[in-house]
Amino acid sequence: MTKIQKEGYGDVTMKDTDLVLLDRIAPSILIEMRYATVYNFAKRALYPSLCCFLRKKVADKLFSVQAQLNKQGLGLKVYDGYRPHSVQKQLWEICPDPRFVADPKKGSKHSRGAAVDLTLVDRSGQELPMPTPFDTFTPQAHRHCQNLPADVLENRALLERAMEEQGFLPLPTEWWHFDDEEWESYPLVDLSFEALCALSCSS
Ligand SMILES: [Zn+2]
Repeated sequence: MTKIQKEGYGDVTMKDTDLVLLDRIAPSILIEMRYATVYNFAKRALYPSLCCFLRKKVADKLFSVQAQLNKQGLGLKVYDGYRPHSVQKQLWEICPDPRFVADPKKGSKHSRGAAVDLTLVDRSGQELPMPTPFDTFTPQAHRHCQNLPADVLENRALLERAMEEQGFLPLPTEWWHFDDEEWESYPLVDLSFEALCALSCSS
């Protein structure tokens, strides 16, 4: 087993992290890693790769969500999954507001590989109308916001129901963010995408 020394989290191995590439578990889920693009609140690319990693059990649950949605002619598009702790620190420097960015002292559930940002798509891969674009930190992104068109409210509720049925917890301030209900069982990880890609390609 390859071992990688990382500051703060000791020796972490691929086995310890149990991080897997989502497209190997659920190839039909669309992936658009926004932090590898300028289309995020930081307005610059923070990831070197478009790979989406999640804990194996989390990826399995997402596969089940996708299977249920497919029956209705819908599917998922993922914006973010595992996020290295070092990137979380950069995000906090840009937006030190705990309503929207997890304080790196506590750590993000994304850095545990146990949180996911996503939306709904139709059969052609077109995104369904949602309250705001991804990473829009306004009251309209809050789940209790009701001042929205009926189809948007319906889509938001549909995504919530589909995710909750498989054991994901919706974050109140971001319609796109869900935590795995077992997130506490996964420790924080600070493996780079380069290291993870190298390990997963050789496994
Ligand atoms: Zn998130």
